[in-house]
Amino acid sequence: MPQLSSRGLKYTVAVAASLLVLSASVAKEYLSGKVWPEPKIIDPGQPGKAPSDAIVLFGGGDMSAWEGGEKWEVADGVATAKGGGITSKQPFGSCQLHVEWAAPSVVSGTGQGRGNSGVYLQGLYEVQILDSYDNKTYFDGQCGAVYKQTPPLVNACRKPGEWQSYDIIFEAPKFDDSGKLVKPAFVTALQNGVLILNHFQIEGASAWDAPPTYSAHAPKLPLQIQYHGNPVRFRNIWIREL
Ligand code: MG
Repeated sequence: MPQLSSRGLKYTVAVAASLLVLSASVAKEYLSGKVWPEPKIIDPGQPGKAPSDAIVLFGGGDMSAWEGGEKWEVADGVATAKGGGITSKQPFGSCQLHVEWAAPSVVSGTGQGRGNSGVYLQGLYEVQILDSYDNKTYFDGQCGAVYKQTPPLVNACRKPGEWQSYDIIFEAPKFDDSGKLVKPAFVTALQNGVLILNHFQIEGASAWDAPPTYSAHAPKLPLQIQYHGNPVRFRNIWIREL
């Protein structure tokens, strides 16, 4: 490479600097021209608390937001599944749902029999809750699966007894007036902050004994949490309508 004299170097630097100044003076900021309303200001809440615009379905006090909640045991801010599933009194469409849960610390049963519960979006579409820590079952039935439709992307389960979180973003399906499906449901979910379902297209209602199918329903339906014979614990359940 030829060596630049110090004079040549100064000249080169000066030219580069003036080119920079020139390009800065001709650059123009891009503006989309779209007129947006200002996003609503909300309080995201402290860790472990619901955001200000969420509907708290269980904040540790009572189960009054749920049909069937009286059967569950509430103590020390925790609700333990018992005696049957629970159904929210309020119906929901598309939503963001936060649920914290823990499989029983005393391990009993295997496969689907260990720490089984489930979040039934609109009472129809199940994101499985199961103690899948060192407990194999069919993959599209393990923890974080959309039951019998897809396994989770990873097994992000904590040990039995440890608190875990689900953050679920659900897009409700749409049906036309004749009852035909015009837009399927989609679900995205994080377990313990880890992506386990990425905008998965739900194939229909979850069933143990039938393939998933859609049947036309109201735009909003209650949320259900399954009782499957295991004392799965819950706390801090909140939902934001989208
Ligand atoms: Mg289940």
